[in-house]
Amino acid sequence: MLKQIEMAHWMLKDIINVDDVVVDATMGNGYDTLFLAELGAKVYAFDVQEAALEATEKRLENKAIKTQIVKKASPVDQSSLPPKEQAFNGVSMTEPSVDLILAGHEELINYVQSPVKAAIFNLGYLPKTDKNIVTRAETTLSALSSLTDLLVVGGRIALVIYYGHEGGEEEKDAVIKWTSTLPQKDWEVTSYAPLNQIHTPPILVLIEKRK
Ligand code: SAM
Repeated sequence: MLKQIEMAHWMLKDIINVDDVVVDATMGNGYDTLFLAELGAKVYAFDVQEAALEATEKRLENKAIKTQIVKKASPVDQSSLPPKEQAFNGVSMTEPSVDLILAGHEELINYVQSPVKAAIFNLGYLPKTDKNIVTRAETTLSALSSLTDLLVVGGRIALVIYYGHEGGEEEKDAVIKWTSTLPQKDWEVTSYAPLNQIHTPPILVLIEKRK
């Protein structure tokens, strides 16, 4: 059986093309940022912790993917610039442009103005770090609202919701309530969750824009 994060990646990989703009709303250690950088043209990755940017920069560097650290919103939307072309064994390869942004995803609209094909949220806290730095219902919904406005038709948002920590249940309930009320004619909203496991394994919520 696929785990929730594997299912999230599978559902996003299915739709991301080499010229797409994509968002990692919760960068953490950069596993999802790397996954997106290997598929799309422009990646915007957000986190509120410097440590997340450092870990992600290193992870992408190990795969020879260059990143740029962004600490302040720039007036120019870089995604409107064409991705850099590289010649590789005579074949033209497109180099992804990856912005590692030190800001909360609730500020997304200050950094991303172009249409977005896919986004991923991995809600909760970064393992082995300060458990007080967690995603929160209010800011998550604010980011979701901005992203649903920017999403192209056929675009998808995946939310992997860890909720075993303090405040986690509240955030999970808020996300489920908010996404459940998206109008059916324009949006498809699905969840994927284990039903017979003890503890609190994550729940995956998937959103697709139909029209
Ligand atoms: N996707 C990550 C990975 O591949 O390693 C794991 C993400 S971890 C479960 C959640 C992350 O969300 C933490 O790194 C935390 O700092 C970050 N976070 C908390 N509040 C945030 C916010 N308002 N905006 C963006 N990131 C936030």
